[in-house]
Amino acid sequence: MKLTIHRGSHEIGGTCIQIESGSRSILLDAGSPLGESRSDIDLARLDFNDIFISHPHQDHFGLIENLPPDKPVHIGETACQLIAATRVFLGKPPLANTFSQLRNREWVELGPNLRVMPYLMDHSCVDAFGLLVEADGKRVYYSGDFRAHGRRKKTFDWFLADPPRGIDLLLMEGTMIERENDAFPDEDAVEKGMLKVLRQLDDRACFLICSGQHIDRLCAAFSACIQAGRIFVTDIYTAYILRTVFDRFPSIPDINTAKNIRVLTKGITAKAHYQKVSANRGYFGAFARDIFRPETMIDIAEIVAEPYRYFLKISYFSDLLERLEQCGVIYSMWSGYLKEPKHQGIKQHPKVDFREIHTSGHAVREDLQRMAVALQPKRLVPVHTENGEAYRNLFGNSVVFLRDGETLEI
Ligand SMILES: [Zn+2]
Repeated sequence: MKLTIHRGSHEIGGTCIQIESGSRSILLDAGSPLGESRSDIDLARLDFNDIFISHPHQDHFGLIENLPPDKPVHIGETACQLIAATRVFLGKPPLANTFSQLRNREWVELGPNLRVMPYLMDHSCVDAFGLLVEADGKRVYYSGDFRAHGRRKKTFDWFLADPPRGIDLLLMEGTMIERENDAFPDEDAVEKGMLKVLRQLDDRACFLICSGQHIDRLCAAFSACIQAGRIFVTDIYTAYILRTVFDRFPSIPDINTAKNIRVLTKGITAKAHYQKVSANRGYFGAFARDIFRPETMIDIAEIVAEPYRYFLKISYFSDLLERLEQCGVIYSMWSGYLKEPKHQGIKQHPKVDFREIHTSGHAVREDLQRMAVALQPKRLVPVHTENGEAYRNLFGNSVVFLRDGETLEI
């Protein structure tokens, strides 16, 4: 078995790993780099049969649109639907790839001597998997991105209780190996933090800035919103993401079943989103009507009349901000993204009381250690990290460093 990290050995994001066994070869992730990358990948020049996408974050799947359409792409069912939905809202054509569903702990057989088993993990998106690759009598486990402090932290307990055995090599992410996550250590703390702010700022509207596909975070926000006695207002895109996940996980708040969710159907953002819904009615089905039910839709005039009643997850709210005297903004993403001018503009706006409430989507040091202890790998290779050298302090001499493009025989 041969292992090559084409990209992602010394950076966070842009991950692309290849494993070859005899005449067969697979890719684990094909991500777009985040920011400045040290290396470029031309997927067309790589020779492989199948590709496995650990989870639906751009830095893990972003390059699949460049693949020949007949290469099988193995990915979670809802992950695939969310990627498709985002493309519709961005006005991009559907992906032409051939998709195949990953199911938790079910082998994907790729020939007499190569197979892959996905392990469902907790991360800041749905359908996040670690991937066990077995070939030539050897076993490699790729952690994907994971954590043990989200709403699906039980998946990590299940993993520790029954981990894959006999691991020759572990490829483990280390986004947080040199970062702290103390202010809000888990999603429960995020929910409590949001509730506190919603109660403190009970005389004004509060806005939420977070990823529209971070379902744990949307659930935490919705729960805090309900406890604070407010109404959760989303844009059309967020409502559709919730609908997509709700179809598989009925505990997710959806406009048809949850009380106190409304959809902003007028204004700049709504217009842009609705144009996409209107142009793709067959794709959106009943959703295109559901958002216009009187008990679901809300407009800006209603919000401006009684702003303190609402907690709003909508993109581009600067037009609404102009019409409010003051508001709260809960920023719930990685603090590194705060440098972006659009966020700085909001943070420094004189009407805004700006609060940061966030917990990481990635495992803290203790949980990285728990994974390594459970798997007992013969060798451990850092990936998805800017601090590979810190692995040696935690994991000792089993750590092996690979450069992007370098091949290791296993
Ligand atoms: Zn991720």
